[in-house]
Amino acid sequence: MTSLAERLARPEIRNLPRFELSDRGCPAAVRLDANENPFPPLIDGPLAQDLNRYPDPRPESLRRRMAAIYGVAAERLLLTRGGDDAIDVLIRAFCRPGEDAVLVRPPTFGAYAHFARMNGVRVIERPLGPDFSFDAETAIAAVREDGAVKLVFLCTPNNPTGTVTPVADIRALAKALPDTLVLVDEAYLEFSESGSAAPLSEALPNLLVLRTLSKAYGLAGARVGALIGDPEVLEMAGRTLPPYPLPGPCIRAAELALAPSRQPVVEARISRLTTERRRLAERLTDSGLLTAVHEGGGNFLLLDTDTPEALAARLNASGIKVRPRPQVSPGALRLSVGTPEENDLVLAALGVGAPRPPGRRADISRDTRETRIAVAIDLDQAAPRRVRTGVGFYDHMLDQIAAHACISLILDCEGDLETDPHHTVEDCALALGAALKAALGDRRGIGRYGFVTPMDDAEAAVSLDLSARPFCRFEGQFATDRIGDYPTALTPHVFRSLADSLGAAIHVRVTGEDDHHKTEACFKAFGRALRQAIRLEGGDVPSTKGVL
Ligand SMILES: *Cc1c(COP(=O)(O)O)cnc(C)c1O
Repeated sequence: MTSLAERLARPEIRNLPRFELSDRGCPAAVRLDANENPFPPLIDGPLAQDLNRYPDPRPESLRRRMAAIYGVAAERLLLTRGGDDAIDVLIRAFCRPGEDAVLVRPPTFGAYAHFARMNGVRVIERPLGPDFSFDAETAIAAVREDGAVKLVFLCTPNNPTGTVTPVADIRALAKALPDTLVLVDEAYLEFSESGSAAPLSEALPNLLVLRTLSKAYGLAGARVGALIGDPEVLEMAGRTLPPYPLPGPCIRAAELALAPSRQPVVEARISRLTTERRRLAERLTDSGLLTAVHEGGGNFLLLDTDTPEALAARLNASGIKVRPRPQVSPGALRLSVGTPEENDLVLAALGVGAPRPPGRRADISRDTRETRIAVAIDLDQAAPRRVRTGVGFYDHMLDQIAAHACISLILDCEGDLETDPHHTVEDCALALGAALKAALGDRRGIGRYGFVTPMDDAEAAVSLDLSARPFCRFEGQFATDRIGDYPTALTPHVFRSLADSLGAAIHVRVTGEDDHHKTEACFKAFGRALRQAIRLEGGDVPSTKGVL
């Protein structure tokens, strides 16, 4: 019995000899096998590393990381040059020019029909049902009627309508058509509440899933995507890839962006975008300017209006790029969700809201050989708070700062804890200070000074000046070496690191009996002082110099 992949593949692909690649397996060797130039280009920075060498044709660590994020085994994932490439690769591996056909359900992503036509493959169109739903029956009937359909495209959430197709309907479709490939395009899945169809592919080898780092991970410029599914089908599809599909800098950028320390900030950003999607949809619905607002499950809205050209012109006049989508429906316009400030501009341009002062937020990353840290901070929100440094007591202490300062703090660190908590503790303080500094911007309107007096059995007093001039004085002694995995001697270093990277004068004085209480009192008091110092009290820079 031949496999599904062999039965469905184009004969040219099935019989294609393997392309010989040079072995990347021994990095220490003198590499004189690939006619590379031995001199690296004169470009600085980690992304330029090894740029004179051919990249790894099958970057295994990126593949494993993406597979882990998508919850599948690595051998069920094929890396592609963005999601677009996944579409092209499937068509080229399985659809014979002039003979086979694909089924698409408009309005949907234009690339399916585009790549099919480019490859001489017929496109059969069956419009989506009412409310833009993808009903399995219509697709099944179309495939059975035609006889030449090799590949069905199903986009969920659908671009541009946002419609989410239930996983049960996807299963019914793939099950009813065992000899037709079904590509489930999940480019926007992270923005929806829906689960992935990927687990279904274990029992249904004709079902494939497309994922991409372009949308949820903000890596559109790096062109990294993936096909998930039956390993034999993927192997056949992979034969049509160029010898070195992913550029080296893109592989490294993707690995850095997907590091575990980045994940909490990525998730917070996705949640910020879906909150904004909801807010935009509500405000635009209330505006009365539109005949329909389709919110859906992506990072965009589909709008419908009687005057799409006029609406687009109005937004364009405010410097906001949008365009009508007449191929979707005569009055359609797709609007991507931007930052809260960008969305305010949209609402203001349409006369349904006034711009607010810019949010005091910052997302930063800080990487060294010892630690990798990502921090997201919002001085005007009290939630969420998620701190994970790997040092339990320190997590608790940083959380105390955020809780008492009434700010949102997401901080995640991958540190060399096998050596000692020292690097982790100090670098997290530096990163927190840098994030606070970035969020404060020009420090306009802040109270600037903060202070607090004793609390509980321990007495900690912290006074703080967000002066932009680093200074730290710490007065206090600890009797024990450690609290859990946290070395008590690091507490003065934490405040010094904060003072340096935040640009602040920090004075800490602590007395008392119990080291746990004394340490906690310091962090709490700092949070309280910070709360006062960052409070907005007006619009001026709080200095007679006019600048901080
Ligand atoms: C953006 C998008 C993709 C793929 O994007 P890439 O940048 O090529 O990864 C795939 N499908 C849909 C529906 C999209 O909107």
